Amino acid sequence: MTDTNQEVIDCLIIGSGPAGYTAAIYTARAGLKPVLYSGLQPGGQLTITTDVENYPGYPEGVMGPQMMKDFEQQARRMGADLRWGYVSKVDLSSRPFVVEVDEANTIKANAIIIATGASAKWLGLESETRLNGYGVSACAVCDGFFFKEKEVAIVGAGDTACEEALYLSKICSNVHMLVRRNEMRASKVMQDRVLKTNNIQVYWNTETDEILGDKKVEAVRVRNVESGALTEIPVSAFFVAIGHQPNSDLFKGYLDMDEQGYIRTIPGSTKTNIPGVFACGDVQDKIYRQAITAAGSGCMAALDAERYLSTLHA
Ligand code: NDP
Repeated sequence: MTDTNQEVIDCLIIGSGPAGYTAAIYTARAGLKPVLYSGLQPGGQLTITTDVENYPGYPEGVMGPQMMKDFEQQARRMGADLRWGYVSKVDLSSRPFVVEVDEANTIKANAIIIATGASAKWLGLESETRLNGYGVSACAVCDGFFFKEKEVAIVGAGDTACEEALYLSKICSNVHMLVRRNEMRASKVMQDRVLKTNNIQVYWNTETDEILGDKKVEAVRVRNVESGALTEIPVSAFFVAIGHQPNSDLFKGYLDMDEQGYIRTIPGSTKTNIPGVFACGDVQDKIYRQAITAAGSGCMAALDAERYLSTLHA
């Protein structure tokens, strides 16, 4: 990595979702003068959602993009140095750590907080993109409530899909669960719960052909993979639960990760296997994945980084 820029800082935050901004607020207040790089999707996954009603402190709810603006403003007001740009390479073997930004400049940091998040996997249909936020969602816990007493569909057959189908079954009148094979990948206990729930109807060997609707979701057209038969199911929402991809590729070879690429942290902390490198938010959490839990772990990462830096400078 060529060193064209000699900037050396104490605390670098990578990512601008709830975890990154919370880490920025805390580290700025602690006087660490953090620099945050926002990444390719400033604001993170919340910028592609609509209303957020389950984040405490917003009694009337808030739009996801607005909430991220609020986080950003608060971090800026605290004095965090918020920058556009994406981290293109890291060298975590040298001290200070070396980070390349926008495939051009490098910056050196004594501590790094990774808050790069995760991205939902999508089916890749044009209608899925067009109706995203208008009935198409990758988060039942975030958006299920808007479809109270309505018919909805969910695609996927892992633990997430089962958990979300069960969640939706308590809110919606009927849940149509689309499973592409003749079995589910989910744990037996989750499958049993789904199969015992009266208002969840499982469609085996079924793929999504198209999501139908002009301005909002009105139906889903499904294809039976054995017979090829197409069927339309009228629904008001279409939930995609086919897994998430942690945005951790940059750190492969340096940080311990599980088999899916989630960064491993020492339980009860945000410490990774490299002292001085901390991970928070969805890049290290495949279970909870909520804005509030991401923000909470961003706070933890800031406190962990502060303690680390005070020892380093002692
Ligand atoms: P998984 O990767 O486990 O499952 C993804 C599911 O989506 C699979 O059933 C897969 O089908 C299906 N799928 C993938 N692509 C498509 C497609 N194009 N069309 C239709 N279906 C598709 O992801 P999860 O998010 O469910 O779980 C991730 C990890 O997190 C797992 O280890 C899980 O156990 C864990 N988890 C644990 C929870 C808990 O303990 N409470 C809760 C949630 C998750 P196929 O099987 O045919 O490949």
